[in-house]
Amino acid sequence: MSNILAIVGRPNVGKSTLFNRLTESRKAIVDDESGVTRDRHYGIAEWTHKSFTVIDTGGYVFNSENVFEAAIREQVHIAIEEANVVLFMVDVTTGITDLEDSIAQVLRKSKKPVYVVVNKVDNHQLQSDATEFYSLGLGEIFCISSMSGSGTGELLDEVIKNF
Ligand code: GDP
Ligand code: MG
Repeated sequence: MSNILAIVGRPNVGKSTLFNRLTESRKAIVDDESGVTRDRHYGIAEWTHKSFTVIDTGGYVFNSENVFEAAIREQVHIAIEEANVVLFMVDVTTGITDLEDSIAQVLRKSKKPVYVVVNKVDNHQLQSDATEFYSLGLGEIFCISSMSGSGTGELLDEVIKNF
């Protein structure tokens, strides 16, 4: 069976930035605007001689708050079906929003391993802000900066144990 890692989370948390870092491809569109990534993107990553597929979930077309939330929940359901391991990416600079609560609700029912990845932890001070994400009820959290790459090694060391 193939090894598949899906990255889920609301728009603008940094999913595509991590995807690009892991896959070193330019397939995903990264933009400052929320919801810019239109499609699901697939790439190949490698860590300690193991290769795996990474899915960047995006593609949120919405015209109301409710449709937006439903679309994100749908993406999470698809990711759980399709992947062996799910990364739930959150943003330390915005904290827990209703959308995080909604996604966490779906993920807590999943039997697949889920890792809470707190992104944009660009410096040491932000590390203490990240502890609020324990309240999502999904266990251990991993603080990273997708931009600089800090923390991604520790995360991948754990993720790769599933493959
Ligand atoms: P996505 O919508 O979840 O795919 O998020 P993107 O990867 O498109 O990133 C959204 C914005 O967050 C962009 O402006 C990125 O440059 C920025 N971003 C991503 N990772 C980091 C990070 O580790 N630190 C900071 N400060 N900004 C980041
Ligand atoms: Mg994106």
